[in-house]
Amino acid sequence: VIPHLQETLQELYTTLLPNRDGRIADYIPELSRANPDHFGIAVTEVSGKTFKTGDTEVPFTLQSVSKPFVYALALKELGAEAVHKMVGTEPTGMAFNSIIRLEEGSDKPHNPMINAGAIAVTDLLKTPKDKSRLDHVLEYFSDYAGTKLHLDEKTYLSERLSGHKNRAIAHLLRQYNRVGEDFEASLDLYFQHCSIVIDTAHLSQMAATLANGGIHPTTLKRVIDARHVKDVLSLMFTCGMYDSSGEWAYAVGIPAKSGVSGALMAVVPGKMGIATFSPLLNRQGHSVRGSLAIRALSEKFGLSVF
Ligand code: GLU
Repeated sequence: VIPHLQETLQELYTTLLPNRDGRIADYIPELSRANPDHFGIAVTEVSGKTFKTGDTEVPFTLQSVSKPFVYALALKELGAEAVHKMVGTEPTGMAFNSIIRLEEGSDKPHNPMINAGAIAVTDLLKTPKDKSRLDHVLEYFSDYAGTKLHLDEKTYLSERLSGHKNRAIAHLLRQYNRVGEDFEASLDLYFQHCSIVIDTAHLSQMAATLANGGIHPTTLKRVIDARHVKDVLSLMFTCGMYDSSGEWAYAVGIPAKSGVSGALMAVVPGKMGIATFSPLLNRQGHSVRGSLAIRALSEKFGLSVF
């Protein structure tokens, strides 16, 4: 679809690799072990063709990139109306783990892309008869990735031990009846889906499934209904980049979701899924090299949805 894409990715990689701005997330101890030199960029077109450069096979955890997919699963299981009784559709203008809006607002988490909203949505997920909720989530995510995904137990346990703020959010949600009695198990599941392992090449396939209206571009499996793709992408567009979502929408113009591991995923509807990985983060928790790479791709190829 796009001429000279491979050369462009290579150029971006070479230009951005020397950029050492940003910091590795260390509030989850296991994440602080990341290598700041790692940098990968991958694009999967809706035709199924993948272009990649750099460290695209290095494993990392999804972190908050899991949020749109968990939201998608809840939409599938319960429908949009039931899900949005528990979580809103408004950006907060605050950091990803902010607790303030919950207290001062309607006591309903603003949207599914921030921690409070994602914990509430995780609590809604059904327990299948024949498997655990974790296995169910893993299978669902694997359909987007086109490969079998697994959990990084160390990162999960590391966040479980150190995630006091998320625990506080979960308790506040319980106080406001936004999560059920078994919310501790849902918080565990939240830590687990944040700790699912992926690489840049497969993350671009996850994004491409959303770009392709919900059908994985090579397995051709329908993973999510088209109407729910619309829901997921709208909220990624307005809320996916936390307190820089407005700037991102203005400057880059495509729905995106970041994770504090250094993962970043962007979706160009009808065209391609883009993924980057580089663990040095800016103040909002987005990968510095990844954000610059996706912004440059958008500018060069006119990818803004407008
Ligand atoms: N697991 C992380 C947390 O809850 C996800 C945050 C992120 O990736 O933005 O703090």
